[in-house]
Amino acid sequence: MEINEEVGKERLNFLEEIITKAVEEGKEIQTRFPPEPNGYLHIGHAKSICLNFGLAKRFCGKCNLRFDDTNPSKEDTEYVDSIKEDIKWLGFEWALERYASDYFEQLYDWAVELIKKGKAYVDDQTQEEIRQNRGTISVPGTPSPWRDRSVEENLDLFERMRAGEFEDGAKVLRAKIDMAHPNMLFRDPIMYRIMHTHHHRTGDKWCIYPMYDYAHGQSDSIEHISHSICTLEFDVHRPLYDWFIQELGIFPSHQYEFARLNLTYTVMSKRKLLKLVQDGIVMGWDDPRMPTICALRRKGYTPAAVRAFAEKVGVSKRDNFIDLGLLEFCVREDLNKVAERRMAVIDPIKVTIRNYEEGRTEMFECVNNPEDESAGKRMVPFGREIYISRNDFMENPPKKYYRLSPGSEVRLRYAYLIKCEEVIKDAEGNVVELICSYDPESGNGGSSDGRRVKGVIHWVSAADAVEAEIRLFNNLFTKEDPNNLPEGMDWMELINPESMVVTKAYMEPSLADAPVGVPYQFERVGYFCKDKDSTPEKPVFNRTVELKSSFVIK
Ligand code: ATP
Ligand code: MG
Repeated sequence: MEINEEVGKERLNFLEEIITKAVEEGKEIQTRFPPEPNGYLHIGHAKSICLNFGLAKRFCGKCNLRFDDTNPSKEDTEYVDSIKEDIKWLGFEWALERYASDYFEQLYDWAVELIKKGKAYVDDQTQEEIRQNRGTISVPGTPSPWRDRSVEENLDLFERMRAGEFEDGAKVLRAKIDMAHPNMLFRDPIMYRIMHTHHHRTGDKWCIYPMYDYAHGQSDSIEHISHSICTLEFDVHRPLYDWFIQELGIFPSHQYEFARLNLTYTVMSKRKLLKLVQDGIVMGWDDPRMPTICALRRKGYTPAAVRAFAEKVGVSKRDNFIDLGLLEFCVREDLNKVAERRMAVIDPIKVTIRNYEEGRTEMFECVNNPEDESAGKRMVPFGREIYISRNDFMENPPKKYYRLSPGSEVRLRYAYLIKCEEVIKDAEGNVVELICSYDPESGNGGSSDGRRVKGVIHWVSAADAVEAEIRLFNNLFTKEDPNNLPEGMDWMELINPESMVVTKAYMEPSLADAPVGVPYQFERVGYFCKDKDSTPEKPVFNRTVELKSSFVIK
């Protein structure tokens, strides 16, 4: 049995078990990821991508990218391009890039074959009539008056549908199965509808387009997909998927379903995401509060973190909710390994070091990443005036407070010990400046008399600081499950007014040249990356994720 051990792990999920068996039977493993190019991919799609590409990789098979472009009214090449970019960013390569529209001719020929077998017919009923005559679970459907057209007439009408003789909605092609079938999808499902709509790839060549149920399985079959993996809601479609393949006698692809990913505090419906964009609730599809892959990228999430998340979530046969905290946990875990450290102060207080010469600058050597020696070191300037974080100072501290307070001493990370000697306040009593002294012999982690100081705080030299806009992102929704609403409430009412808080920071000068999108750990603060909205005069940084959280992995 051929298995790529590099991506192996101890326990198999149910799909891996199924595929292991197939491999043992000597089958080639071929999967596909089948997005409809009608929107941007989100974290749910990322789960599906990791699964389909991951399984192919693990079992030495292949995974195709197939655009399910059968509904031209909503689709566009803009989405095709973004989807390709997102898959590549996640670190996957497709074997073949295909489009359902590549198969329109073949699908048409197969439809003709089914007509000839007496298994399909042209129906002149309106959409509404078709719906009404379908019956209900308990009431059988009523056969269409056009159900028993002759093969010749059906062939002629279907050809004329293709030729553009009829208006949208005037006719459809339906499979002739069973109008009393307990599975409603078997009550003569529609295979083709007339749509005089320009297609982003086939242009005006076609004015009839296949329905999902007729296109999907046959496209899988053409590509010899061994395992067609989709989300649970398609399980009722599986018998119909099999029916078309059997009637046509073509390569037997099989469909397998897993539970879709749901995340707390998140909506994933394309309709809702579009509304957030159109109503200006967010800055666009890639607003870091969105669950789209381009947003995660902009926010500073790494592909490795998203893949690790998909792996941890696993695959299940039952719908469930995943804690957004798990995704953040995976991001933090990866960034702790790969992100370089920098110093930046949000909500600063100025500190003047009384006994440090005016105009003097020293450079201190700082470690870029304690988890990765190869990341090297950098020099950070220090001077008489620095900024420290307001929450590293307390005027009346409790016992065991190790940061700065009047009369106490603290270590400035990589630099000196300082002692707070005077607190300067404004007319309202707010602390505006601290006057400190420093121990000139404490520069290398030591001190003049060997005394030890517990607290270590970060700082930025005021003369060299770069000011940045900081965007702090919080959950976009105030409720864990914004899809499950109390009566009469609109999901838009659940938007968190504090989902983005804009503030500013003073940063060490090396951050001025930070590349867009590369996350850094601002020591003791969190992970941040430069945003594309930055200008040379005003850098903007996004908070990728907080440094700590109460989330525990179970
Ligand atoms: P639509 O509402 O337009 O059908 P969709 O989210 O199903 O949107 P598709 O482009 O059809 O989008 O999805 C491509 C693939 O991604 C499908 O195989 C689908 O099952 C899978 N997928 C979509 N959402 C999720 C999710 N939340 N979790 C796991 N897989 C998903
Ligand atoms: Mg879909």
